[in-house]
Amino acid sequence: MNLKIAELKSRQGEPLPFRTTLEPADLKNRHQEIRGLTPVETVGEAVMLGGLVYVTGKLSADVDFVCARCLGPFRQHVQIPFQETFATSDADVQEDGDSDFHEVAGDEIDLEPILQEDFLLAIPAFPLCMEDCKGLCPTCGANRNEQTCSCNNQRIDPRLAGLADFFSKTEE
Ligand SMILES: [Zn+2]
Ligand SMILES: [Zn+2]
Repeated sequence: MNLKIAELKSRQGEPLPFRTTLEPADLKNRHQEIRGLTPVETVGEAVMLGGLVYVTGKLSADVDFVCARCLGPFRQHVQIPFQETFATSDADVQEDGDSDFHEVAGDEIDLEPILQEDFLLAIPAFPLCMEDCKGLCPTCGANRNEQTCSCNNQRIDPRLAGLADFFSKTEE
């Protein structure tokens, strides 16, 4: 998916709509939580103003995850908005090291790698089948979303777990 600078320029500030699809195979390999993925439908528009190209739009796909708490597989429809700015050689901007735009070297903008990054950054590192998933019982392995078991699982505050560990070591 390439945007031609000359075409954007000729539109004199009128947005250029675009539509593309990101291939799922490569994206899936680059994020360990993505177990399955449909092609990523991308709709957006690009507009060139004062040498800067503003690209906005939305990525959407169905992603297969495995819940980090209950290990249950689930599918989620994700919609990821994106907004990127590109500076052409006509732009009157200063490169100060942490600027918020991508520099365009040639006469085209290759959107794909940037959209791939936007997509991957929005994928959770700790996917949950539902926000309050109760997870598996650490003792009997029952899925606590589906059943209540009778195990007495002592709950240790994670902040104190290190301390408990310390005491059990000194007792030895
Ligand atoms: Zn879950
Ligand atoms: Zn249990």
